[in-house]
Amino acid sequence: MSAVLNWFIVAGDDDEHEFERRGRVLVLASFAIAFFALYFLAVTYAMQGMSPTAWAFLVGSPLLVANPFLLRRTRSIEFTGTLFCLELTFFLAFMAYHNGGFEAASLLWNPIIPLLATFLVGWRLGATCAAIVVVEGIVFFALDQAHYPFPEPLTVEQNRWFQMAGSTGVILFIALLAFFHDGSRRWALGLAQRRLDQLRETNAELVAARDQALEATRLKSEFVANMSHEIRTPMNAVIGMTGLLLDTELSPLQREYAETVRNGGETLLVIINDILDFSKIEAGKLELERQPFELRPCVEQALDLMAGATAAKGLELVHFIADTTPAALIGDATRIRQILVNLLSNAVKFTATGEVVVRVDAEALAGKHHRVHVAVQDTGIGIPRDRMERLFRSFSQVDGSISRRFGGTGLGLAISKQLSELMGGTMWVESEEGIGSTFHFTVVAEAAAIVPRVGWRAAEQLLAGRRLLVVDDNETNRRLLTQQARAWGMRPLAAASGPEALDWIRDGEEFDVGLLDVQMPGMDGLTLAAEIRTLRDAASLPLVMLSSVGEQAAMMRQGNGAPPPEVAAFLSKPVKPSVLHDALSGIFDRSDAKSAPAPAPPPVDPELAPLAPLRILVAEDNVVNQKVALSILSRLGYRADVAANGLEAIEAVRRQPYDVVFMDVQMPELDGLEATRRIVRRHAPNARPYIIAMTADAMQGDRERCLDAGMDDYIAKPVRTEDLRAALERCRERPLSAEVTAAPAA
Ligand code: ADP
Repeated sequence: MSAVLNWFIVAGDDDEHEFERRGRVLVLASFAIAFFALYFLAVTYAMQGMSPTAWAFLVGSPLLVANPFLLRRTRSIEFTGTLFCLELTFFLAFMAYHNGGFEAASLLWNPIIPLLATFLVGWRLGATCAAIVVVEGIVFFALDQAHYPFPEPLTVEQNRWFQMAGSTGVILFIALLAFFHDGSRRWALGLAQRRLDQLRETNAELVAARDQALEATRLKSEFVANMSHEIRTPMNAVIGMTGLLLDTELSPLQREYAETVRNGGETLLVIINDILDFSKIEAGKLELERQPFELRPCVEQALDLMAGATAAKGLELVHFIADTTPAALIGDATRIRQILVNLLSNAVKFTATGEVVVRVDAEALAGKHHRVHVAVQDTGIGIPRDRMERLFRSFSQVDGSISRRFGGTGLGLAISKQLSELMGGTMWVESEEGIGSTFHFTVVAEAAAIVPRVGWRAAEQLLAGRRLLVVDDNETNRRLLTQQARAWGMRPLAAASGPEALDWIRDGEEFDVGLLDVQMPGMDGLTLAAEIRTLRDAASLPLVMLSSVGEQAAMMRQGNGAPPPEVAAFLSKPVKPSVLHDALSGIFDRSDAKSAPAPAPPPVDPELAPLAPLRILVAEDNVVNQKVALSILSRLGYRADVAANGLEAIEAVRRQPYDVVFMDVQMPELDGLEATRRIVRRHAPNARPYIIAMTADAMQGDRERCLDAGMDDYIAKPVRTEDLRAALERCRERPLSAEVTAAPAA
């Protein structure tokens, strides 16, 4: 029996095996039915001679047996199976008709037709056959009720023979099909189980491989972090010392060499930072800050960094922050600025002429959340369509030759995209070759409450309703300036050229203030200002000039340090709305005074020390780094003591009061974190020094670790003069230190 079953169950799950399985059902069914037909032929012949029924058996059985051969020829089980089932249906109906209709034993066979049809071809044919045989039964029943005279009704005796053979055959058939079904079900389950086992095995292998990969990534990022630390320490010496070298008397050639070294060092540092960021993101180790910050200064700081480069290339750099944008957000300002700086420096790098425009807007989401959208648009070389999707992959540049022309690591965009994704947003690009690119990124952040800048609202009244004349040849700039002015309630009118503006004024158009671009084709801003003065005096139409940093310096030089008399104020591009606002309201504030020149920015103190005498301790184990820190401090006018490790630092602070301790984090004997904890524990808050961490790790978590240990501030190595000075200035500003620093310097 099991041999028969196994013959049916052709193991394998592809189409070929399925064909074979069904084919075998057809072979068995046709031969079995033919066998029974011969038996019936013998019985019929013995009882009735060669009656139509006997003829039907004689013709029908070879027809049925022909099907397996037909299948071999056509190789279509659908066709042969359907033919076989129809032949059988017709054959049995013919038989029933001749042998007494509803009473005929051949009707017993009908149930196997839908079964066979289902096994051979599918449920549709099965259902069709079932419908046919049911209808057939009903028709015979109806005819029987109507006493229809069927041709050769069998005698009761004859019918018995047929019923016996019929019921045996049908039972055998149904049992066989059931066995077959059961066998194939078992086989299918076994197959599923085998597949499952295979999957489990593969899964386990995958998990192991993933673990290995994760471990490798972890080791790699640890290695990168270590390397970055190792590289930063000597870099500290290179950058720090070159900075100091540049402050000494040098011949022009020596200065050039030293500057080249410093620039090289700074560039290297940017690359190291990128690699470090990248490996941290890859290892899932990058932690984002969640601090309230003001968005506008954050954007403006990024623009400030670009002002020099755009002025040097003669590019317009404009920005516009939509009113829908929350003034303050909770999030990581440093990272947002980092993305923006990266996009801006790419835009400037790949744009030779034209403009770079930054637009910021926001969409409110549920709760206090907003999706902030920043777009950086340039008029540069653009990016070929087929290269766009490669852009955000790490280490990829649009092509080798461009990479050679422009340099870069190809990490910037990959990092920026991942950063914006970490902040719940995304990054994408639109670009047309030769026309320009627009890089977009979004971040999701909560709006923070920020007290509006003092005076901003009050000053708004000063501007409301004032008529503003804007003259700028750049259309984007004109649009942004007028949009901005309208937001303050002003009534702006923009002209694209000097002559156009002059025409308006000659026609008697009234303006309260003018905003003129200095660099314009045809008539430049200064010539225009002089022309306007022949029509209106400074009191009736004050003029504010917009210029790049370089131009302004040149004009100031011409005017011996003061702006020319016809100008009320110079603002440098990119002009920040806050600065523009202050300048404009400043003009109306002193409305009765004659237009006075804008106040010059306060000079930066070259020497901090006389203003803020401080007793300083530098805790640092590396001799070169000690030298760098001491030299920078001495440049700022400070002398400092040195401790070579944490224990020495604690001891020094115990012996005499210090205002500031610069604390290296990694030191032998006792590290900076522990030393800080002990100092904080031992001294009252207002009697302990202000502790500034100095570390080469520059990892996000480190900053937190330092602050958690009780440090007050943090600067990353390589230590630069500006960083150190800024840290000391912050220290001066804190309320706590007022008391301490009031003490006379030792
Ligand atoms: P890189 O450090 O090389 O600039 P990025 O990831 O920042 O790395 O940029 C990758 C590449 O994308 C660049 O080398 C440049 O080919 C292309 N690219 C980026 N920004 C622009 C842009 N504004 N215009 C044209 N090409 C750009």
